[in-house]
Amino acid sequence: MTLLPDRVASPRRIDRVDLLTNVTNADLHCHSRVSDGTLEPEALAARAKANGVELWALTDHDEIGGQQRALEAALDQGLPYLTGAEVSVTFAAKVVHIVGLGFDHHDEALKAGLKATRGGRAARAQEMSAGLAQVGIKGAYEGALQYVGNPDLISRTHFARFLVDAGHCSDVSDVFRRYLTEGKPGFVEHRWAKLGDAVRWITEAGGIAVIAHPARYDFTPTIEYALITEFMAHGGRGIEVVTGSHTAADAARYTETALEFDLLASRGSDFHSPDESHTDLGRLDALPGRLTPVWSALEQRIHRP
Ligand code: AMP
Ligand code: MN
Ligand code: MN
Ligand code: MN
Repeated sequence: MTLLPDRVASPRRIDRVDLLTNVTNADLHCHSRVSDGTLEPEALAARAKANGVELWALTDHDEIGGQQRALEAALDQGLPYLTGAEVSVTFAAKVVHIVGLGFDHHDEALKAGLKATRGGRAARAQEMSAGLAQVGIKGAYEGALQYVGNPDLISRTHFARFLVDAGHCSDVSDVFRRYLTEGKPGFVEHRWAKLGDAVRWITEAGGIAVIAHPARYDFTPTIEYALITEFMAHGGRGIEVVTGSHTAADAARYTETALEFDLLASRGSDFHSPDESHTDLGRLDALPGRLTPVWSALEQRIHRP
């Protein structure tokens, strides 16, 4: 599917690749207890360093309350840092995640936008709990709350941890399959941020917006084309290619997508927890050399030790 002219041979692209050949192990996607991860930002920074990460970003869901801690912890570890967040967006009646990188984490419009995005989570969680009660699972809201590091950010992941520990399911994936996905008793439709708003908050705060784990959405080619072109029309510039949420085949496929649309490529484990995540921080394949890494366009935004 060739949709745009191939611009691989431009001299500018070659310069940008040369500039960044010294960093390959960038991990620009993970979660702390400030959203639905289980480790504190400081523990993540230490783990990233121990695993050989050369450039790191913490990307909590809809929340940048952990950024200052992550930044300071990274610098203490001698680890270059980019600010990050993963914004929940509703697009074509599905949830799409947009990762923002390298923004000013003191930006007021970004903070307000994320706060509004988090706003409906408490009511949604109560509704999820009511749905679960109807199939005999009582007290799920209170149960999930025990796992929450940030009450504003109660998420399906916290419900999943409660359901596993209460013996309803064998693991977190099993909970999602049986209870928390579309059509299942604990699933509640929710309106998240608009695509254009999320991209604008990130971009106007000086960052770059990136489509997270594109293979996860299961869109038709037409809807995927609409997502990418609308995202770019709003100023979005990047796409995740190598992520803990992609298979090798997914990465190969989105390598071609990145080249077709001249998008910057990102790489991140999407690490949440030592007990749950398949991909540890920094333990990912390298980005294919034909791609332009997103961090090559963020040189000026990197916080250096
Ligand atoms: P929420 O933002 O409350 O809708 O929760 C979404 C989070 O649930 C994602 O960020 C993942 O951490 C987690 N998640 C989504 N789908 C799955 C799945 N199939 N298995 C395990 N975790 C999942
Ligand atoms: Mn998550
Ligand atoms: Mn995500
Ligand atoms: Mn994530």
